[in-house]
Amino acid sequence: MVSHIKSTVIRDVLAESLSEAHVNVLERLAEPKYDEDVATELKIKATVVRTILNDLHQNSLVEYQRTKNKKTGWYTYLWVRREEKIKDYAQTYLKTQLIDLSTRLDDETKSLTFQCGCMRVPYEAAMESNFQCPTCSKEFTECDNSEVIDDIVSEVSRLNSLLEQT
Ligand SMILES: [Zn+2]
Repeated sequence: MVSHIKSTVIRDVLAESLSEAHVNVLERLAEPKYDEDVATELKIKATVVRTILNDLHQNSLVEYQRTKNKKTGWYTYLWVRREEKIKDYAQTYLKTQLIDLSTRLDDETKSLTFQCGCMRVPYEAAMESNFQCPTCSKEFTECDNSEVIDDIVSEVSRLNSLLEQT
């Protein structure tokens, strides 16, 4: 049985943060299931499913029950998703991304950046070499970083709108 994650926004955030394959596995785990069965249902290798399950487990998105097979002595794992953790995970991911972006935006707006023919450097580095690149000998000129700033600003508003919808 496939049970979709109720919010499509949260589903998309999970796919962006982890991967589409991780979401596909999660959607099979509304009911407890063995990793082999998930592999069969998704027509992918059990080893791939186990790797994905370990990722999901590290992020507290799934839990398992372990039982020992008395004949073989091997353990089998019955997995289920932690419905209550999914929203938290998506929100934490978005908030972390937003903090990173705000640091980057700060850097881009506060400091001047210079470029030559081969690299981008902060103002101090350009000044230290008298505005001439020691590597390519071209003059350091101020970079226009308005495009970079615009990109960050639009990413911030995209993530904020996702966060509001979760
Ligand atoms: Zn250079």
